[in-house]
Order: sequence, then structure tokens, then C-alpha cells
Amino acid sequence: VFITFEGPEGSGKSTVIKAVQKHFEQDTEVMVTREPGGIHVSEKIRDIILDEDSNIDGITEALLFAASRRVHLREKILPALESGQMVLCDRYIDSSLAYQGSARNLGFEIVMEINKIAVENHMPDLTLYLKLEPEIGLSRKKANDVEHNRLDNEELNFHKYVVLGYNKLSELYPERIKTIDASQPLEAVIEDAIEQIRIYINS
Ligand code: C5P
Repeated sequence: VFITFEGPEGSGKSTVIKAVQKHFEQDTEVMVTREPGGIHVSEKIRDIILDEDSNIDGITEALLFAASRRVHLREKILPALESGQMVLCDRYIDSSLAYQGSARNLGFEIVMEINKIAVENHMPDLTLYLKLEPEIGLSRKKANDVEHNRLDNEELNFHKYVVLGYNKLSELYPERIKTIDASQPLEAVIEDAIEQIRIYINS
């Protein structure tokens, strides 16, 4: 089973994933990953995206993320799924739709088109969306970053569009994307995530 975790920064994805892994590891083999996932080519692509001198436009960025996603999918995710493992992936196609599609304003259609080529029919079986107000997510993130702890409006605005994008995706794909209230205490978020996975597995 291929499960992805999505949500804005500060939504607690990585902590929740670790707890979910620990829970399901008792009965099944679980692989946790995130792009670029230690895959050589994907790491190189990530370096290009993050290099400030690259100065790339949104479509190039979406193409590069999609290329990196494809290599990570083929080299790491598909082999794990084929050997029967549960795969927990921190961000996947919905991140591109929310970040490049909504926040960078390319629109869902073009980002979806690019990503369909990249992932073919390999969509997640289940996506857990950790939903959080952008103000809360950003202030959680800033609280951990003593050097850049001032909330700036441009950043907040960007994150509002990320969250709007995710909200729209959860309305478009209610069968696949299950929303979890990430403003709850972490234990409750973890419990909800485990419950949604159980429901999926038993369905
Ligand atoms: O929360 P996490 O550490 O996964 O954040 C990674 C960052 O990478 C995001 O906040 C976002 O700025 C960026 N990203 C992006 N487009 C994607 C995936 C990640 O801009 N498709």
C-alpha cells in the first residue's frame, strides 16, 4: 500500500510519519521515504532546484520536481511496493499541485499534466492531508528557527495559497485524500492517521 502525507510546513508530517511507521512495523514491513530519498539523480535535481543561481521559472521548477519524483518512484517506491512493503512517503504529487500549481500560480491543470507523464498511473492509494491554518503552521516553523523568526506577509500569503490548494485538492479527490485536523495535539493527529490507514486497509 502506497500512502502519502501532505500538508503545509509546521503541520507535523515528519513526526506523524515516524509514529505511524512505529505502529505498523509491528505487523508489516514499512518503508519511509521522501523526495529525493537518497537517489543520486533526484539529489542532483534537487540541488538545481535549490541553487539560487538557477533562477528558474515555475514551469521549469514543476518539470524538475516531476523528473525527480519519477526517478524516486522507479528506483525506490515501486520496488518496495512490489516486495509487499507499506510505503509512507512524505510529500508527492499533491505537493506540486499545492506549491507550484496553487502558490506559484501555474494552475492544477498544467502541473497535473506534467506529473501524469512523470508518475504514469502510480498514484497513492491513500493520502493523509494534515490540515492547518497557515498562520499556525508558519509560527510553529518560525518558533524553531531563532534566526528567521519574524512572520513576513509575503511568506504568509504564499502559505495561504498552499493551504487553499490543498483544501481544493481534498474536495476534488475525497476518495483518495483524507483530511486530518493538524491543529489538535500531536497524539490525536497520530491516532487519526493510524485510524484512516486502518480504515483503508480493511476496506
Ligand atoms: O515541510 P517540508 O520539509 O517537506 O518542506 C519542503 C519544502 O520544499 C516546502 O516547504 C516547499 O517550500 C518546497 N516544495 C516545493 N514544491 C514541492 C515540494 C516541496 O516548493 N513540490
